[in-house]
Amino acid sequence: MASTIFRVQSHKFSQDNIQTTLVCSRCDEVFSKEFPLDLEGQTIEFKCPVCGAPGEADLPYKSAEEREEFEEDFEEVEEEEGGEEFEEEY
Ligand SMILES: [Zn+2]
Repeated sequence: MASTIFRVQSHKFSQDNIQTTLVCSRCDEVFSKEFPLDLEGQTIEFKCPVCGAPGEADLPYKSAEEREEFEEDFEEVEEEEGGEEFEEEY
């Protein structure tokens, strides 16, 4: 198993890919990387671009909020300003 973990510090979904900012648990460097949208929510293995250590990262799922942003189809408009979506990062 991979011993290095790339922690997702922040992420952004674009039309074509997932743009992430990751922190390597081995060298502590921050780097950014893009992944295909298909990989949403999956655990991906790759090498750290800084120190070259093989490791893995858990990619985030696109939140409902982000989906809405890109799919401008508001058939079900729900007025939810509750703010219960802060379960990860920051
Ligand atoms: Zn590294």
